[in-house]
Amino acid sequence: MSKTTAPVIVTEGLTRRFGELTAVDSLNLTVYPGEVLGFLGHNGAGKTTTVRLLNGVLTPSAGQARVLGLDPATAGAMLRRRTGVLTETPSLDERLTAREQLQIYADLYDVPPQLVRTRVDELLEIFQLAERGDDRVSTYSRGMKQRLALARALLHRPELLFLDEPTSGLDPVSVRQVHTLIREQSRSGNHTVFLCTHNLEEAQRLCHRVAVLERGRIVALGTPAELGRNLWKGVRIEMETAPEAVASACMALQQFSPARDVTQPNERPILRLTLSDREEIPQLVAHLTAAKIPLYRLMPQEPTLEDVYFALHERKEKG
Ligand code: ATP
Repeated sequence: MSKTTAPVIVTEGLTRRFGELTAVDSLNLTVYPGEVLGFLGHNGAGKTTTVRLLNGVLTPSAGQARVLGLDPATAGAMLRRRTGVLTETPSLDERLTAREQLQIYADLYDVPPQLVRTRVDELLEIFQLAERGDDRVSTYSRGMKQRLALARALLHRPELLFLDEPTSGLDPVSVRQVHTLIREQSRSGNHTVFLCTHNLEEAQRLCHRVAVLERGRIVALGTPAELGRNLWKGVRIEMETAPEAVASACMALQQFSPARDVTQPNERPILRLTLSDREEIPQLVAHLTAAKIPLYRLMPQEPTLEDVYFALHERKEKG
């Protein structure tokens, strides 16, 4: 990611209203080349509307955007030749084969004719569709259709890729491939990925920065670690004891008032809990030692994006 070159996306007060409803509300956002930006938010938060504004499919009610140096509102067609978009529900022509579908798109996006065959073969291979490339799309599974839609979005090697829920409906092997691909896109230097996702683990793993959207407004923006530090108050602890001591360790933790959310995540003698403050860790160790609980490992954990997301949500609920 490079913050020294010109930003790929800059929005200033970008707003879109549908009648009474403000779907995107005064959005100020800057995205840099090579960045994977996660765009998170509940259903209806305004993610898809933002992507449509940034591609010039919708015009803003107020404010402005510049994407790859262009104004999407007036230069949408020119812009879309340089962006790739995977929509939430990609439309594919079911009567065509994957190969035909990609060839048509290659023409539409002016891929040089001498490169089309190699590029189509390459993408069919990457997305494990080579064997079925000459079958009609109507015979594909949901995951295969999703992979084809992704291949299509990458066909013209876009500088900026918008992905709306790219791994929904994919099996774990395909999810991993898509993640690798997203990383490779960004590693190649000037390719930027704008990733809308509900999958917090995915965002944590892939994104340099994350923006959390709520009712069209950005309520948090930063690296996952920054958001964790600033928005999640507490310390998660993972501790390991002996198999025969799990029950007494749980009881001892219940008697230790600073400990909350005590869980045993699996069959192993590992317990997780939350404290309010790092300073409570020595007290916890003293308490477990006094209770004669064997302690083999005790590790404070970094808060996850999931912690942050739910903390933001709770804050909103409390008003
Ligand atoms: P999801 O996660 O469910 O895809 P989202 O964050 O992408 O949600 P949007 O699709 O951007 O949300 O919708 C934001 C709000 O704008 C919603 O309340 C939606 O009903 C409304 N909206 C979106 N498009 C239109 C439209 N063309 N006409 C009227 N309202 C719309």
